[in-house]
Amino acid sequence: MAIRTESQDPDLGPALQTYLEGEMAPTLAALGFICSLHANPDGRHGPLMIAKRHEGDHLPTVLIYGHGDVIRGQDASWTRGHGPWTLAQDGERLYGRGTADNKGQHSINIAALAQVLKARGNLGFNVKWLVETGEETGSPGLADFCTAQREALSANVLIASDGPRLRRDRPTVFLGSRGVANFELTLKLREARTTAATGWPSEEPGHGAGECHRLPG
Ligand SMILES: [Zn+2]
Repeated sequence: MAIRTESQDPDLGPALQTYLEGEMAPTLAALGFICSLHANPDGRHGPLMIAKRHEGDHLPTVLIYGHGDVIRGQDASWTRGHGPWTLAQDGERLYGRGTADNKGQHSINIAALAQVLKARGNLGFNVKWLVETGEETGSPGLADFCTAQREALSANVLIASDGPRLRRDRPTVFLGSRGVANFELTLKLREARTTAATGWPSEEPGHGAGECHRLPG
């Protein structure tokens, strides 16, 4: 949390490198992962990391995704906790930039792997991690990187703990994602009509258009 990985601030490129090099790589290396850092293929944006823990050729391979960057800290707007760059606990809640997107999620996944290793000594499957540092700026270079690293990233299943959560008190699991398209929708609402005039069920103007669903990601 203390590493200001604001990918939307072009001056904070070194923090992105620090997060992978100084935080993620040693944490995963301690769990038996071999980590490799890669410069962004576009030559301008944040680096990416692949970490692998291979237990056997006959075992299935899980590819896990995470992003180490966060949106801007917006320090002045912070009303709870101790600001965006210090992890603060208040009862069941943790405050700090990235707790909910995405440092919290990938920390939980790492902790879960660590617990399984502690209990069993091995996982029973191979794991590959892909960590990028530009998700909050549209994942620059990610597609080219994945194409180039196709073999290194090949797996039986992708588990990506990122994206919207529908309810705070219940886990959200999306089975499958075909990508995300972000767009702005501007509506010019018609006048309300009566059921008698249209034969259709009566609607408030614009009703039904206020809720837009997007694919997980
Ligand atoms: Zn995210």
